[in-house]
Amino acid sequence: MENTVKPASGLKKRDDPVYSGDPDFKALLGSFEQHKAYAALVASAMAEIPEFSKKEISLENCGTYLELDGDGILVASNLCRERLCPLCQWRRSLRVYGQTQKILDRLEPDGYAYLHLVLTIPNCKAADLYEQIGFLFRRSSALFSDRLYPKGDQLARHCHFKRAFRGVLRALEVTYNRERDDYHPHLHCLVAVRPSYFTGRDYVSRDLMRLLWTGYAAPLYDLDRLTLFQVYMARIREGERNNAVAEVAKYAVKPFHMELDLDGYRRVLPVLHRALRGRRLLQLYGCIAQAARELRIDLNNDEEAALTGGATRKFYFAYGHYHEVKDDEKEEPENRKTGPAPRGEALGPVLAEP
Ligand SMILES: [Zn+2]
Repeated sequence: MENTVKPASGLKKRDDPVYSGDPDFKALLGSFEQHKAYAALVASAMAEIPEFSKKEISLENCGTYLELDGDGILVASNLCRERLCPLCQWRRSLRVYGQTQKILDRLEPDGYAYLHLVLTIPNCKAADLYEQIGFLFRRSSALFSDRLYPKGDQLARHCHFKRAFRGVLRALEVTYNRERDDYHPHLHCLVAVRPSYFTGRDYVSRDLMRLLWTGYAAPLYDLDRLTLFQVYMARIREGERNNAVAEVAKYAVKPFHMELDLDGYRRVLPVLHRALRGRRLLQLYGCIAQAARELRIDLNNDEEAALTGGATRKFYFAYGHYHEVKDDEKEEPENRKTGPAPRGEALGPVLAEP
């Protein structure tokens, strides 16, 4: 598993082994530097795409200023909040991980068991990606809310699993195949089910889920009408929940999981930008949505600051590394915030107000 999904910094528990005993935040700042370098690569690719000229500047200036409290929690920064920014994706994955844990803790007394469900459709070309993601979203919403098949349809009577699916966290992932130059959009779902689901009459096998998920859609993809879409379904065992949450959090914030060089990014970034624009990458249903509402958690909101009221330390980025703002410079930390803060969200002083 990538280190980017461990609760390693801003949302870490105080006894987290990764950054504990690290009074100078060496490991934490090292992670920031690593993602900053990755952001620089993406920014270089953006520099050659006219529609990305503003975003390129945002990424270059992202996270040049950090203010950390004594526990390494980020209380102020100038993160750019761009969806395609690797540094912001990493911070987002930590936030979503922590928030999802809180939601599941809230549901703990209800004794749910959890499934990891992956719903796929056939690969598509760049020109079709936007439409195909829309299809995935609509179809999965209909499946989870029991609206996929009208009453009387021969498949409707198999949709009894809906009674046992009490809540869903749905995240979009898109992978890219370089050889074929096509895209594979699919959904990772964390599903809360009643414990009786596995032994009761509402249980649905993977084969039946494939049948229900595909329905009559195969011919739309020029497939034989008996060909089924791929579905992965597995029970998340006790003790594995954190890993499963981390996986879903990772997909949710880094919807494109691809090892690409500069050339690859040049090709893929405009396609993803158009396909993901304005879309909520995370969607909640049922008891998971209800728990999030009760906790006032919006997984799609990028606010991150955790105000502790204690002393903070300030760092600025230069020449590939973070440097602490010296005492005599602390009077004017504003000067260190070299980057623009798009949409006014990332301004340190705003977040730092008590
Ligand atoms: Zn950023």
